[in-house]
Amino acid sequence: MKKGKFIVFEGLDGSGQSTQAQALFSYLKKEKVKVHLTKEPTNSIIGGLIRGQLQGDWKSSPECFQLLCAADRAHHLQKVIIPYVEKGITVISDRYFFSSIAFGSLGINDEKWLEDINRRFLLPDIVFYLDVSPKTCIKRISDNRISFELFEKESKLEVIEKTYKKILKKYKFFEKIDGERKIEEISEEIIKKTLKLK
Ligand code: ADP
Repeated sequence: MKKGKFIVFEGLDGSGQSTQAQALFSYLKKEKVKVHLTKEPTNSIIGGLIRGQLQGDWKSSPECFQLLCAADRAHHLQKVIIPYVEKGITVISDRYFFSSIAFGSLGINDEKWLEDINRRFLLPDIVFYLDVSPKTCIKRISDNRISFELFEKESKLEVIEKTYKKILKKYKFFEKIDGERKIEEISEEIIKKTLKLK
């Protein structure tokens, strides 16, 4: 890979995005590819407001929540993603604006508005969508955590999954990855697809 790519991981909570983003990052680093791993919500002040709400510390309207996510993303692009990619460094982001559209579909019945507030943002070279059933996601989350976040209920994950399936058809850079396999098997497929990026 010669120039900086922008690679995104998407999926339901518990689908293994963090695991796979980290695995790809470690592989590329080992291969001496210049790479930076990041995530949304970010660690910025705005990201903190978003996380606080996901954990139930405070509550705003769904519109306010989505605007905060878009603001966090604008800052993320300005301070991290764009500078790195322009320097020739590959950026891997654990979640991006497709999460806003998919998760936002729970509280906002206006997909166009959700797309509009994210319309000016850089498009990735590839998005790995980890396809894992809501049932498996809930099992993985409950095996590993003591508290559940706002979106982590099976019925909610089913609605989010439906929107993701629509998004998958819309964007040609989306790659659906069977995420129900062993971690290493999934990583291998993701690495192969990443190395094919031009
Ligand atoms: P996400 O970032 O999508 O919420 P994580 O990567 O944090 O998901 O994974 C959630 C949990 O599921 C973690 O405990 C992780 O170790 C486990 N996990 C991830 N991928 C797999 C897999 N392919 N098979 C079984 N467990 C997995």
